[in-house]
Amino acid sequence: MIIVMQVGASQAQIDGVVGYLREQGVEPIVLPGQDNTAIGVPATLDAGQRVSFEALISTLPGVSKVTQTSHPYKLASREWHRENHIVEVKGVRIGEGFVVMAGPCSVESADQMRAAAKAVKSAGATILRGGAFKPRTSPYAFQGLAAEGLQILKQAGEEFGLVTISEVMSPDMVGLVAEHVDILQIGARSMQNFPLLIEAGKSRKPVFLKRGPSATIDEFLLAAEYVLSQNNPDVILCERGVMPLDRTYVRNTLDLAAVPVLQEHSHLPVIVDPSHGTGVARYVLPMALAALVSGASGVMVEMHPNPKEALSDGSQALTPEAFANLMRELDRLRSAWLVRA
Ligand code: PEP
Ligand code: MN
Repeated sequence: MIIVMQVGASQAQIDGVVGYLREQGVEPIVLPGQDNTAIGVPATLDAGQRVSFEALISTLPGVSKVTQTSHPYKLASREWHRENHIVEVKGVRIGEGFVVMAGPCSVESADQMRAAAKAVKSAGATILRGGAFKPRTSPYAFQGLAAEGLQILKQAGEEFGLVTISEVMSPDMVGLVAEHVDILQIGARSMQNFPLLIEAGKSRKPVFLKRGPSATIDEFLLAAEYVLSQNNPDVILCERGVMPLDRTYVRNTLDLAAVPVLQEHSHLPVIVDPSHGTGVARYVLPMALAALVSGASGVMVEMHPNPKEALSDGSQALTPEAFANLMRELDRLRSAWLVRA
């Protein structure tokens, strides 16, 4: 239940409602907003109690209206947390402005990661990606360098002063991945691996959660809820494309409408991955620009020093030159956008 206070309700009126709720044995959550305050009441009442409770509360001084929460998720909902949540990692603020995460699909060698990190840094991006544990469709495909890959990524990140992100696929690996990287990525295929979500939540590291290929918005936010419920507020949502109608031209269908939808219903930052979202390097630039226009807080882009030799996802990887161009185009669009606004 959400109690919306009137615009201009006094602190004494807010305290009055909070005091009344506590007397009834409910611990409210006060949600200050720009114009007015809302007070959240966790759903512990049965339907009958709720109706009489609701009628009473609406008569308290300063109360504008009482509404039922409309979503199955709570901690991920904007109803309970009105301001945008900013995830701050080593000075990089995700959820404010536009951040770019880039790097190869897989960590392949120290030389490859140094070259990638150099290209990420010199183009002006702040976060370096690289998978050490790879969720591959085939067990015969390259599975990643595991612990060695994490070490390589960590070194490249430290050398070039970049925040690092890498995927963790199983709960027992959370500790190891968290020791080496700044942000834990949970891949699309693992979005509903509930023990993994819980373990990642317990790690206290920011969690970058990718939307499952067939996940609805509610399923996606409920997956985020698992992490948040471990007292870890730092979840970053990533739209990376959903099951396409037609795989002839693209690998997935990038659901850009999910960006404003998620932002309306959740306070968590939303990042777009145009690389997995299209699967085709030449479509990454237009979709990255579209992500900026959609209001996303950033993009995650695959870039490889030599895409032709990539051990995974080479066909969607940008070259360092194409990546530098993407960064320039994003800047150009941002300036045009600011002029327009
Ligand atoms: C990846 O980021 O390399 C990856 C495997 O992504 P997704 O989980 O979105 O398929
Ligand atoms: Mn990939």
